[in-house]
Amino acid sequence: MTWLTSFRDSIGAPNHKSSPIVWYEDTNVYLGGCDAFLDWCRKFVAVGGDEDTKSMISDGVHPNVPHGFDYDLVVVGGGSGGLACSKEAKLLGAKVAVLDFVKPSPLGSKWGLGGTCVNVGCIPKKLMHNAALLGEATHDLESYGWQQKPSNGFTWGDFKDRVQDYIKGLNFGYKVQLREQGVTYLNMLGKFIDRNHLECTDAKGKVQVISSARFVIAVGGRPTPLAIPGGELAISSDDLFSLKTPPGRTCVVGAGYVALECAGFINAMNQKNGSPSVVVLCRSMCLRGFDRDVVGNVQKFMMQSGIEIIEGVTPVSIEKTGSGSLLVKYSNGSQGEFDTVLGAVGRTADTAKLGLDALGIPVNSSNLKLTCENEQTTVPNIYAIGDVVDKTPELTPVAILAGRLLAQRLYGNGSVLMNYKSIATAVFTPLEIGTVGLTEEEAIATYGESNIESYVSTFSPLEWQIVNEKNDRSCYAKIITLKTEDDKVIGLHIASPNAGEIIQGFAVSFKKGIKYTDLMNTVGIHPTIAEEFTVMNVTKSSGLSTEKKGCWG
Ligand code: FAD
Ligand code: NAP
Repeated sequence: MTWLTSFRDSIGAPNHKSSPIVWYEDTNVYLGGCDAFLDWCRKFVAVGGDEDTKSMISDGVHPNVPHGFDYDLVVVGGGSGGLACSKEAKLLGAKVAVLDFVKPSPLGSKWGLGGTCVNVGCIPKKLMHNAALLGEATHDLESYGWQQKPSNGFTWGDFKDRVQDYIKGLNFGYKVQLREQGVTYLNMLGKFIDRNHLECTDAKGKVQVISSARFVIAVGGRPTPLAIPGGELAISSDDLFSLKTPPGRTCVVGAGYVALECAGFINAMNQKNGSPSVVVLCRSMCLRGFDRDVVGNVQKFMMQSGIEIIEGVTPVSIEKTGSGSLLVKYSNGSQGEFDTVLGAVGRTADTAKLGLDALGIPVNSSNLKLTCENEQTTVPNIYAIGDVVDKTPELTPVAILAGRLLAQRLYGNGSVLMNYKSIATAVFTPLEIGTVGLTEEEAIATYGESNIESYVSTFSPLEWQIVNEKNDRSCYAKIITLKTEDDKVIGLHIASPNAGEIIQGFAVSFKKGIKYTDLMNTVGIHPTIAEEFTVMNVTKSSGLSTEKKGCWG
């Protein structure tokens, strides 16, 4: 007992009183007592089982062995992943706390509980996208027989306030949910002291130390700042949705999801006010990683809508002019004057001040993300989910499901691992993109050009056919199949209105491994856009025209 008392703290087991005490000597990882050690051994000798149910490394925490810490689980970060994980763990009987603290953006923007998605991501973005779509739809009114066109333009202030009020309601709702479900909410910034202790600091600088048997890191990321002279004059998506004044003439730096979605709705709002002026500075290509034909179609649509996309160009500097506008000098020697510069050059994980070095948990030097196996870091009782995990999609439903499955594995009888493959996604550009599976470029690289087939359609939805302004616009869809596996569908892509809604449905059948013939033998719903996936029969390799004229019926 004398030895145990002097030793056990060093392996994070302050309350261990029995024999045996089991730990890995080289890493000082505590496994537990007899039962925990046997469980650990069983996991290693277990045979069979497919990839989806593979076990994690034992973290030494055993449900029947009291650990003596304040909590069973502390989740650091109350965003999409952190809230889902903490609530699920609590439902399964764990004593849980979740910390959430918002560090203001460099320009001072801050928000409430719920993380990026709710406050400065998916939610305000989708509402602003919808505002833009409604504005765009007014162009069609006359073609549909409506005599009155809204003429007063777009009022940023009122609309922004409605969006922000809605978000505040969500913030409040999350707090109530946590309280009702018995999860302790700490509005504090967390920093690790060791593998069982967290230093928590509130907005007034008051510090408290809490201990826990396990931790989940769910701190997400923040926009990467523009590293150019004057970069501090640019706003980011953390600031955009709560700007007091409309963004006006805007230079968007970057050409990923955030850049193109924001460029889309800002342009629509500007156009309603008679000042078309959104310039996108695209370093290499728009939406790297998406099917190139699909992106080409969307890029053309955006340019037809008045957005200027300059490829192969980055900003060199930003200066404030005498009139208060921002002068952006481009790498091609050209320049432009704007009211707002929006930096959207990707996101960096929020791990810099988390104390991970004290734990010996390494981070990727470029994006500060953590390498995990099945959401477990290199310290077995510390897990990570969501945007902070390297090489996984930065999407809300990914963070949520990873968090729920992790809680089920830790506190329930769950054994299902998060599958990060073939995750459907949508880009809410003025013409939306919906996609699941491989792009044509990835399919060729994986299986070879001769082994795949691409069925393609360039079409115009029925709703556009009687609108003269839409004569030059088109949608695009593609089905990619693997010829060597009976034309199994390995990629589905669409650029169209409501593409996200469409691909969500097809994602289920995609996951089930459908064949091209399954799509063709499905009776379509007429006249819809989604129907296109049930009638596409022109292959890219045939060289025939992929343009569809008129209606399908
Ligand atoms: P977050 O939601 O970022 O939550 C992390 C939380 O941890 C934050 O509240 C943060 O303040 C807090 N925190 C950080 N450090 C600490 C600390 N030390 N102590 C305490 N708290 C801390 N995804 C989609 O699926 N669909 C979309 O349409 C979509 N649109 C987006 C639009 C924009 C503009 C952006 C930026 C993102 C969008 N995303 C979208 C991505 C989505 O928002 C993220 O993938 C998701 O929010 C990640 O969740 P998370 O739990 O990992 O982290
Ligand atoms: P992103 O998609 O990775 O795009 C970053 C863009 O910035 C790329 O175009 C990149 O160009 C460019 N870039 C990087 N460094 C640059 C530099 N120094 N100068 C100029 N351009 C530079 O990042 P994001 O748009 O910030 O989005 C982050 C993640 O959030 C996404 O991956 C997505 O998962 C999520 N998100 C999802 C949605 C949705 O689901 N609808 C919406 C928004 C965000 P290169 O291609 O040349 O590298």
